[in-house]
Amino acid sequence: MTARLTSADVAVVGAGPTGCVMARRLAEAGADVLLLEAGAHAASPRAGLLDVGPESLVVTRHPARLGDAQLDLPRGHTLGGSGAVNGGYCVAARPADLATWGPGWQRRYEAGLARAAERLRPTLVPMSPVAARVAAAFPGRASAVPQARRGARRVTAFDAWDPPGAGARVRTGARVARLHWAGGEVGGRCDGVVLEPARPEPARPEEGSARIARESGAPNPLVDEARGDDEVITARHVILCAGTIGTTSILRNSGLGESTGHPVGHRVQEHPEVLLDLPVGFAAGTDFGVGDPAVLPPLLSHVVRLELADRAGPAGEAPEVELRPYSVPMHEVIPGAAPMPLHLGISLMNTVGFGRIDPDGTVVLPDDPRDAEALRAAAVAVADRLGLDTAVPVRSTSHHLSGAARIGEVVDDSGRVLGVDGLRVADASVLPTLPRCGPYYTVLAVAETLAADMAAERPW
Ligand SMILES: Cc1cc2nc3c(=O)[nH]c(=O)nc-3n(C[C@H](O)[C@H](O)[C@H](O)COP(=O)(O)OP(=O)(O)OC[C@H]3O[C@@H](n4cnc5c(N)ncnc54)[C@H](O)[C@@H]3O)c2cc1C
Repeated sequence: MTARLTSADVAVVGAGPTGCVMARRLAEAGADVLLLEAGAHAASPRAGLLDVGPESLVVTRHPARLGDAQLDLPRGHTLGGSGAVNGGYCVAARPADLATWGPGWQRRYEAGLARAAERLRPTLVPMSPVAARVAAAFPGRASAVPQARRGARRVTAFDAWDPPGAGARVRTGARVARLHWAGGEVGGRCDGVVLEPARPEPARPEEGSARIARESGAPNPLVDEARGDDEVITARHVILCAGTIGTTSILRNSGLGESTGHPVGHRVQEHPEVLLDLPVGFAAGTDFGVGDPAVLPPLLSHVVRLELADRAGPAGEAPEVELRPYSVPMHEVIPGAAPMPLHLGISLMNTVGFGRIDPDGTVVLPDDPRDAEALRAAAVAVADRLGLDTAVPVRSTSHHLSGAARIGEVVDDSGRVLGVDGLRVADASVLPTLPRCGPYYTVLAVAETLAADMAAERPW
């Protein structure tokens, strides 16, 4: 049986980076905001930790294919979303990255980024020995990457934007199954969301006390955990911030897709990465000024950007790669990961290929042969310069998936779903193109921009 229990001016679906921005800014503008987060466990505040290992309770795993390889993609499932488990490096897009976004985006992006920077305040860290060694081989190409951390603590968007502090109600363990359509007419007016019946989530073996509601909600009556069995939340406006995979699933489960003129999940982008093994002793040491050995180092202090100038890409521009000199072996920062060597990541940042999200939810990662060849050539050139063996570079992905509900195709410049009332998307799905950097800072800047548009309208 379905019960109508709750209503709000604005229901924000997903408390990842973008959901936290939207919830705070709209609450500040006077809306009654309900922020719905599927996850029920609190992420570790320990900076440097990527809690994406096999035992993690704060990620969901999505099936994916990369060529012939089957992968599973972890995504944050907690307050802060993937920003609570990610590498935390924050790089802004360059003007050329926004050239195809449409008129006004350069200015709008800069304004959004300035607002995001005030809240997140990313900080620089000393150069790691691994980065120093790689940077020395490519003079003038290294740049520092600011981190979302304060000393030993990770700063998530939930910490930085603090939606409850602005008056937003937050409900955890609240997984939205689909949208609710006024009068049952798909694609007409969205007037709320339907929650999946609550399922018991596994407790942490040691205590089960890491559930979000108890940790973050103890002093704050605005944080509540979902209780209902099958619940419709009515809202005058729904904003999807469930991440590229989650938002695609909600839109499709609600009847939006090709048949309604919404090309959802058809042209996703990603930054493919190959990992080169670095020999023991590649860098002088792994201590680079963090001091306290209990404090995990940032995985990346610097990246090195290179253009393969001798190759013209299909769009006329040379392929650009980002070298990621990971400061420690991944198993030192991913709980439960099998021991592995120190890695140098090489990622192609201006891909030509697109992937898709299949109707069964499988993510088919972009696998264009031109991108694969550019990455292979980059790996050979980099290994050669560093005197490394490239025999079997491990193919992987950067976890930068975006573009399932693009501005201009599925939503307008303010995130409104085209032809639908009361529904917006504001997460990584809307990026018109993936910038040549990690998307974290960009999705925060874009969410700030879309929130400012909606706050100016005050449609509630
Ligand atoms: C392991 C990893 C490492 C990364 N490292 C970096 C990095 O160092 N630098 C960088 O720039 N980028 C990095 N990224 C990418 C970056 O974290 C993402 O681009 C960013 O988090 C996207 O934000 P989002 O709000 O769109 O979605 P998400 O962060 O995915 O948040 C979505 C939220 O919605 C919730 N949700 C999903 N479905 C539902 C539903 N049906 N109902 C209710 N809630 C729902 C989820 O639980 C989650 O909390 C990394 C990503 C991953 C996964």
